[in-house]
Amino acid sequence: GPSTNGLLQDQRKLLPIARGRDALVREIQENDVTILLGETGSGKTTQIPQYLLESGASGSGIIAVTQPRRVAATSLAVRVAAEQNDKLGKRVGYSVRFDERSSPETRIKYLTDGMIVRELLSDPLLSQYSVIIVDEAHERTLRTDLLISNLKMIQGKRNHRSTGSKEKEKEKFNPLKIVIMSATLDAEKFSMFYQNAKIIYVKGRQHPVKVYHSLESQTDYVESAMRTFFQIHTDQTPGDVLIFLPGQEDIESLEKSIRLFANQLPHDVMDVLICSMYAAQAPGQNSKVFLPSPARTRKCILATNIAETSITIPGVKYVIDTGMCKEKRYLARNTGGGFDTLLTRAITKSSAMQRAGRAGREGMGLCFRLYTEDAFDTMDLSPEPEILRCSLTSSILQLKCLNQDLEDLDLMDMPDTESISSALKTLWLLDAIDQNKELTPLGRQMALFPLEPVHARAVIASREQGCTSEVLDIISVLSASSKLFVDVAEHREAASEARRMFRHASGDHLTILNVIRAYSDISTTGGKAARREWCRKHFLNEKTLSEASEIRSQLRQACGRMRIDWNVSCGDGEGQLLKSLAYGLAQNSAFLQPDGSYKQTMGHSVIKIHPGSVLCDKKVPAIIYDELIYTNQIYARGVSSVQKSTFTAIGALNRRSS
Ligand code: ADP
Ligand code: MG
Repeated sequence: GPSTNGLLQDQRKLLPIARGRDALVREIQENDVTILLGETGSGKTTQIPQYLLESGASGSGIIAVTQPRRVAATSLAVRVAAEQNDKLGKRVGYSVRFDERSSPETRIKYLTDGMIVRELLSDPLLSQYSVIIVDEAHERTLRTDLLISNLKMIQGKRNHRSTGSKEKEKEKFNPLKIVIMSATLDAEKFSMFYQNAKIIYVKGRQHPVKVYHSLESQTDYVESAMRTFFQIHTDQTPGDVLIFLPGQEDIESLEKSIRLFANQLPHDVMDVLICSMYAAQAPGQNSKVFLPSPARTRKCILATNIAETSITIPGVKYVIDTGMCKEKRYLARNTGGGFDTLLTRAITKSSAMQRAGRAGREGMGLCFRLYTEDAFDTMDLSPEPEILRCSLTSSILQLKCLNQDLEDLDLMDMPDTESISSALKTLWLLDAIDQNKELTPLGRQMALFPLEPVHARAVIASREQGCTSEVLDIISVLSASSKLFVDVAEHREAASEARRMFRHASGDHLTILNVIRAYSDISTTGGKAARREWCRKHFLNEKTLSEASEIRSQLRQACGRMRIDWNVSCGDGEGQLLKSLAYGLAQNSAFLQPDGSYKQTMGHSVIKIHPGSVLCDKKVPAIIYDELIYTNQIYARGVSSVQKSTFTAIGALNRRSS
């Protein structure tokens, strides 16, 4: 209603950045590139785009604001739409993979950096945008780096057209403004990359945050987080607590111990409401986080670094920082094909500062760091750019479609030749590029799917094999952000019993197919409650299945655009189905050895089948798999049995030595 919006308007005016509004707009108008540094909470992400829109500085174009994470993009759009007193998807919208809310009226769009890089494919000059704001640039994600490089080139082209152009061309003149934003940025480096772009500092954070360090170093951060939480809970004034942990496993284990202890508290202490936030949650699953706490209740939010930047969680006054995070890292050595894996490591100073900042969004806050001040001093300043440590396969393919070679780009940091050649090898095995590293028509088609190249390859193969319907079913589950099977240690046997009916002798992929088909049947006959009950009974994650259904409809549309009939089904022809998957997973394949282990066909590692697989303990001549997990051994997860001759048929093995 109007009164709520009135309140929001008052809040906007109180933000530290509001005082500098006119000057900021002027600077952005006068400079091609502006580097904007301001403390967290000063109002950069929510206000700058609105200032540009309201002052008319963005002209008739759209203002893009990029975010490294989808939860940030979607929640910011919700907030800014409310501040604009408008429905989400009208003037303010968002666009993230598999989800978009926008309309022809949209003037401010929050996107993931991945989405805007993808938009380059259809609009190489990003001509519908008049301002592109690259937010949280300090995170240096792979897509942010590619975007920053492309923006430099695009701006050269778009802004250059203006000078000396004839009258007619002036009408088409469509200059681009670039704004690079962060709270903790190596501003000089960005400025140098953009020919000494102007750096502007916005002073003042909204509210002070007092930071405490541990006096001694902690060995068990989960336990220490729990103790700290209960100290806050019993000693401190009301206010929600946000705890940063590295990953989902730690979140689950801390949640358990907090619940256990909370039940033993005396009655005069407030209730505890635990919610969690991590990447592998389906959209909406973390919505509880954003709701206000009920009366006499302290909300305790357990989060990974996805809650670290950009977002505001109302009510949070206390932050507990374990000092740990998971980082994606590319393992190329001794493993055949390279791939990304997650490693737990100490965070960087910039992360520590961002985490503390989450406590001062709405009022004064406290941050408890579970590490010593010395440990803070020895932390790296900011994360190593992702481009130096992640798989480049998907990006190199997208760049090839833009006639760009990664090696030739003007990049802030250049990846090493080993990871470039490993990505090129994968693309060559997928037939996406030819011997001369030129894009093939197949590769161009693969890039049009919002999927990893290996999955896109399987979808394309399914057309020839006549099983697109089945392959889309399976790939949509594999592309969902959480696991399909609920895995609770105490119920492992019951779960396996309840899911026995889905098991398929050929392995995990057809098992997944059985699950999603049964789920679709339930969905057509029963309502939401029936679906939920069915999933609970079979120990299946309903969010995964509902997300997969959405992804599937997106993939069907993509197939439609490419004139692939998604409705073609192979019935019981599982051979065709496995063959289609093998086209994509050829690099992830292994043959049985005389000693019962499996050896990679395209690498040298000896691997075992993961205990969670249908094929665990089975000996089949050849397997394909979704991924490798490194513990004390190398395990293949998501495994299906295929015939050895499949690989000859698809020609994959001929390529491996080239
Ligand atoms: P910055 O990008 O500089 O860190 P933001 O523009 O994201 O700052 O947010 C500025 C302030 O706006 C926050 O400190 C908070 O007070 C308020 N705010 C932003 N988003 C929300 C939200 N979703 N709910 C409540 N308050 C919010
Ligand atoms: Mg921000």
